[in-house]
Amino acid sequence: MNPSSNNPRAPGPAGTNLEQAKWHNRRVIIETVRLHDRLTRAELARLTALTPQTVSNITAELQASGMLIAHDPLRAGRGQPATPLSLNPDGAYSIGIQIDHQSLTGLVVDLAGKVRARVVKNLRRPGPAAALPAVQEMVQQLFRQAKVDNQRMLGVGLVMPGPFGVEGISSAGPTTLPGWEQVDVAAEVGRLVGLPAQLENDANAAAIGERLYGVAKTLQNFAYLFVGTGLGAGLILEGRMFRGHAGNAGEAGHMIVVPGGRPCYCGNRGCLERYVSLDAAYETLGIIEAERQTPQTLLDLGDGIDPWLNTAVTPLRQTINVLETLLDLETIVIGGTMPAAILQRLVDRLEPLPASLRSPLHRAPRLLVGAVGEDTAVLGAAALPIFAEFNPQYDALQKSIDS
Ligand SMILES: [Zn+2]
Repeated sequence: MNPSSNNPRAPGPAGTNLEQAKWHNRRVIIETVRLHDRLTRAELARLTALTPQTVSNITAELQASGMLIAHDPLRAGRGQPATPLSLNPDGAYSIGIQIDHQSLTGLVVDLAGKVRARVVKNLRRPGPAAALPAVQEMVQQLFRQAKVDNQRMLGVGLVMPGPFGVEGISSAGPTTLPGWEQVDVAAEVGRLVGLPAQLENDANAAAIGERLYGVAKTLQNFAYLFVGTGLGAGLILEGRMFRGHAGNAGEAGHMIVVPGGRPCYCGNRGCLERYVSLDAAYETLGIIEAERQTPQTLLDLGDGIDPWLNTAVTPLRQTINVLETLLDLETIVIGGTMPAAILQRLVDRLEPLPASLRSPLHRAPRLLVGAVGEDTAVLGAAALPIFAEFNPQYDALQKSIDS
């Protein structure tokens, strides 16, 4: 997979700095209104630090294209009554598609984040030959189910297990999907469905999902530990996704937490995901590949899950210590395809945690189990086209209104 095309911040069709600033400001305004539900232009200017003139221009455009709606003016004191603005749920839609080890999940969400259609298909460790036609078919199905104005579809956000574009380490391991190394997934899907498409790894997408809809709504600095077939971390630092040099920041599954420990397919020993992942749980509990159904079946084990929890505790404590000391986080959110009830049992066993360097400024608990549930990553993926800084569909919407 080509990481450069996965980066939503890579320069898009908008050429000049001026256009880029406009794209950026538009995204900031949409995001700020979404977070606060309803805002007047004056409140928007204060919260975004944009000039009243810029706010006025952009909100006028967004109203004209049907993305924002105005409510009855508020009369307070003297002067012009202020008009609160909110997102128009039917102003735009986007599609999220998650390609994972056991299934393909697709959603249509509206601009307010409400799920308007959902389709799930079982697909075991899909390679591109099986998955790409299935994605194309799923998009058609989602369009039929959602019954929304197709002209207002902004694009497709794709989510897959990472890492992307890495040679040597873990690109051929059991926790990544086979056969995708040479495929530019976003470009292929974009071509097949005729919409702009972006790709994100599962941990990053889940971090976005949890920030938009879950326990991390108000947090600026957190790590999302995605416990799936493998393990990855999504890092939101100072309010932004941190991707690193090649887009693989947060591949914490290959952090060595038990020196000399279990061998890992990456060539090292004692990697985190050899202890904290679905694969590690199955292996510790002696569940062979053929018996690995959906992660939900692990819940049926009851206390039978304990032998795995016992082996996961120490490596996870070590990880928390590293992440907290390195990044000065407000909290660490744990989620993924591992059932939340099992993750909660794991979190309950982590005490006593290593002494923390967290300052008294931190108010959030050190650890939280993600609240959005099994669709966290695909919801985060669906948000990508909405918050993309360079979304050509916005311009198309604008033009369709003008003409
Ligand atoms: Zn490893």
